[in-house]
Amino acid sequence: MQHRNRVTVIGAGIGGVAAAVALAARGCDVTLLERGATPGGKMREVAIGDTRIDAGPTVLTMRWVFDELFDLAGASLEAELDFTAAEILARHAWDDSGYLDLFADMEQSAAAIDAFSGRGEGKRFLAFMAEARDIHRTLKDSFIRNSKTNLLGLTGRVGREGNLGGWLRLNPYASLWQALGKHFRDPRLQQLFGRYATYAGSSPFLAPATLMLIAHVEQEGVWLVEGGMHRLAVTLARLAERLGATIRYGAEVTEILTTRGCTVGVRLGDGSRIDADAVVLNADVSALGSGLFGKDVAHAVQPTARAHRSMSALTWNMVAHTSGFPLVRHSVFFSDRYPAEFDDIFKHSRLPQGPTVYICAQDRGTDHAAAAARVEQDRLLLLVNAPPIGDRHEFGPEEIARSYAAVLALLERCGLTLQSGSDAPVATSPRQFDRLFPATGGALYGRASHGWQASFSRPGARSKVPGLYLAGGSTHPGAGVPMAALSGRQAANAVLEDLGKRGPH
Ligand SMILES: Cc1cc2nc3c(=O)[nH]c(=O)nc-3n(C[C@H](O)[C@H](O)[C@H](O)COP(=O)(O)OP(=O)(O)OC[C@H]3O[C@@H](n4cnc5c(N)ncnc54)[C@H](O)[C@@H]3O)c2cc1C
Repeated sequence: MQHRNRVTVIGAGIGGVAAAVALAARGCDVTLLERGATPGGKMREVAIGDTRIDAGPTVLTMRWVFDELFDLAGASLEAELDFTAAEILARHAWDDSGYLDLFADMEQSAAAIDAFSGRGEGKRFLAFMAEARDIHRTLKDSFIRNSKTNLLGLTGRVGREGNLGGWLRLNPYASLWQALGKHFRDPRLQQLFGRYATYAGSSPFLAPATLMLIAHVEQEGVWLVEGGMHRLAVTLARLAERLGATIRYGAEVTEILTTRGCTVGVRLGDGSRIDADAVVLNADVSALGSGLFGKDVAHAVQPTARAHRSMSALTWNMVAHTSGFPLVRHSVFFSDRYPAEFDDIFKHSRLPQGPTVYICAQDRGTDHAAAAARVEQDRLLLLVNAPPIGDRHEFGPEEIARSYAAVLALLERCGLTLQSGSDAPVATSPRQFDRLFPATGGALYGRASHGWQASFSRPGARSKVPGLYLAGGSTHPGAGVPMAALSGRQAANAVLEDLGKRGPH
């Protein structure tokens, strides 16, 4: 008898819900199993009193990824969620030197940079952005949107006419930090643009110069989602359900089942079994490779070696009264010991003694009026980078309190005072991230993008076990909300292609 292809998706992170939408839109019988209580995974909220605050990603770029996904499903993203394009992309502050804004309007940014750093830097910024745009243009279709992850294929795809010129123009062997040192004279600008490496959980001193493409991605648009980022995951999960997918929360998969080496379904924590023609795994690939889904599938992919893990974070959510510094939606307060910050994380596996602090002020818009507005109570996420050692070390209350004191001291030096309300801030540590995302140590972005080869080391959509597919930030094309969603699309395409070859049952 003919039946619809049954596909089980494990995990309702953004990669999992994107895969579920793409598969259900193409007529598959999709069951999405999520061990948590809501969709979103890292795109989560925490509750402070009766208020909910985004506790995961806050900067949304590459909106076209989601527009395309809704199009595929015959729906409209715009009709379901309100988006605003940020006018001020982010506000950047250093001790005692005021702040510098980057704007959606590049000429405005160049003028602000001239005023902040001195004449000439604005022009150098425009040259830097032209290079970032070129790198993005080269890699968008050849690598980011392309399901092929291997380096040989890439050099062929970017080196048209068979030469390596296209590849070398990407400047793959220089570090981001070195490349920025050639572009800018003001070390604060090197620091500002070097921070883009941390979007991939990596150190600017070790990440390749190609990551400067993130500057271009932000320039194409930073989007604010009305109601918070978590709503994007909720909206996609609802879309999957409308397309006929079944979503079960509180459903933990403990084993991926195989027969004669091929995937045939999954077993849940309650012992029940779900048969499937294909399984898409949205958990970090380290969970699979380290045997958390059973030894029969552990060889499907290599777990990320500890030394190659990306960064974790220590975050605090709070409702606070803020004064003295005009926060916008995204504000960054830079450490005056930047190299030491990454040595602390990657060499000494400890919390940075002088951390850089990112603050998302969720109720603020991104223009000057919003920054100047009196907001009685801000809903905040504070984030500092942290080592991915949550599986072998628990930062105790004193260590967390010391880090928080260093955060407050830096903010005070930059003029910002926080007075949290009656509810205490909620901290999330690498240990908690490791519990939420098993076998990661709390690493939030899969494998770190250190060295020119790292980006080619992420697994693609097909695992070594037939019928088992991979999606999420630890797979190609990498971490970040839109990238993980793209990986979900790529996993869905691989499933459909392979099931199509197998033919109807
Ligand atoms: C604090 C923070 C800030 C960030 N900031 C940004 C940002 O500003 N912009 C940006 O683009 N990105 C940001 N990121 C990164 C971004 O959130 C992630 O790259 C992306 O959300 C990862 O999605 P994913 O598809 O890998 O799934 P995940 O979010 O990793 O979700 C995986 C899901 O699988 C579930 N699961 C795991 N095991 C099982 C099992 N056995 N059974 C059932 N379910 C299971 C988990 O519960 C989880 O829901 C940030 C991340 C964090 C944590």
